[in-house]
Amino acid sequence: MSDSLQFDKRHIWHPYTGMPGDYDLYPVESASGVYLTLTDGRRLIDGMSSWWSVIHGYNHPLLNQAAQQQIERVSHVMFGGLTHQPAIDLAERLLAITPDELDLVFFSDSGSVSVEVAMKMAVQYWQAQGKADKSRFMALRGGYHGDTFAAMSVCDPVNGMHHLFQQALPQQFFCNRPQTRFGQDWHPDEMADAEKILAEHHQQIAAVILEPIVQGAGGMWFYHPQYLAEMRKLCDQYQVLLIADEIATGFGRSGKLFACEHADIVPDILCIGKALTGGYLSLAATLTSNKIGETISSGESGCFMHGPTFMGNPLACNIAAASIDVLLESDWQSNLQGLEKALIKGLTGYQHLPGVADVRVLGAIGVVEMQNPVDVQAVQRSLIQRGVWLRPFGRLIYTMPSYICSDQEIAELCEAIKYTVLENAT
Ligand SMILES: *Cc1c(COP(=O)(O)O)cnc(C)c1O
Repeated sequence: MSDSLQFDKRHIWHPYTGMPGDYDLYPVESASGVYLTLTDGRRLIDGMSSWWSVIHGYNHPLLNQAAQQQIERVSHVMFGGLTHQPAIDLAERLLAITPDELDLVFFSDSGSVSVEVAMKMAVQYWQAQGKADKSRFMALRGGYHGDTFAAMSVCDPVNGMHHLFQQALPQQFFCNRPQTRFGQDWHPDEMADAEKILAEHHQQIAAVILEPIVQGAGGMWFYHPQYLAEMRKLCDQYQVLLIADEIATGFGRSGKLFACEHADIVPDILCIGKALTGGYLSLAATLTSNKIGETISSGESGCFMHGPTFMGNPLACNIAAASIDVLLESDWQSNLQGLEKALIKGLTGYQHLPGVADVRVLGAIGVVEMQNPVDVQAVQRSLIQRGVWLRPFGRLIYTMPSYICSDQEIAELCEAIKYTVLENAT
């Protein structure tokens, strides 16, 4: 194994790494349920769900079956001029579980691309109405929307790599990150900054893009639903579209099927990804209304200008349709409530541990925010000693376990975090 590991570190790029690599790498042999098995035989509770995606656990019999059945029929076929039942089945399910106002589904291969697609839709929508100036975006500080260029341009301007790519990035507008936490009293003056920007620049702004309720990779921050409701009103008032990026929050993670439901609002454009296939394959989708689709199609080009090679991949679509069935046939609401309770119970009192700045839980997301940036490798080593896989970033040690995690497993996860915090604080 160590030869292969050496090869890996010399020749393969991992997320946000230098070359040649100088970091710990843990080879995974297999995974089942909530457990990862490393090649050396160690078993770890996976507290990350492979970055929000593996909501039903690994190696799920029904998702395996959906994959196997589809491989026997056709794994991939181009989507230009051809179609197939898995795409239709999946689109039907997506339209059934999202608001009635959304009628159209555009499939793509990753979350970042679904954000690019959403932004293009917004620009083409205004262009078709002779408003080509409306081509910029307003985003929230502390947001994360992906690593491709347009997506990166709406990520937090400070921690979102803007300084590195400044010359190459379109310049967008940023309003303050929502201050009022989920569950706290709403401060009505929260919207002043966003309103000021929209009032001054709405003629240049195609859309507001945000992650509803949960800002994920930009800081794991849970904000007040009223913020979302007010932003919806401001978008209507200033004739700006609202793009909800539910790539992380979709499919139950925040306790609602989609986080927009916390505020009972409907976005004009919705992006989903990550958990869409239950973590089996990369697939994403951008949903919008007939009104927006028809307006785009009435424009100069007569169509929406995007079409990835692997659009609507049948294998991914079939697994995604099965994953939605598994979710809806489970008692997901009480499961999520149970997970939230277990996380709250497990992390109770952690705010008093040395070095801890804040502890917060929403749905199946538990966050321990430290006062200082953590040494990721040291923290990971102590977690692994206690049989747990997490991938901290910045000052955050956090978990978003799979929905099948038992109370006992959540308790073990939280215990491991506690020991790790204590070990790394001293
Ligand atoms: C992960 C993520 C993305 C990007 O998705 P990829 O599949 O990694 O391209 C975009 N927005 C949010 C909110 C995400 O969490």
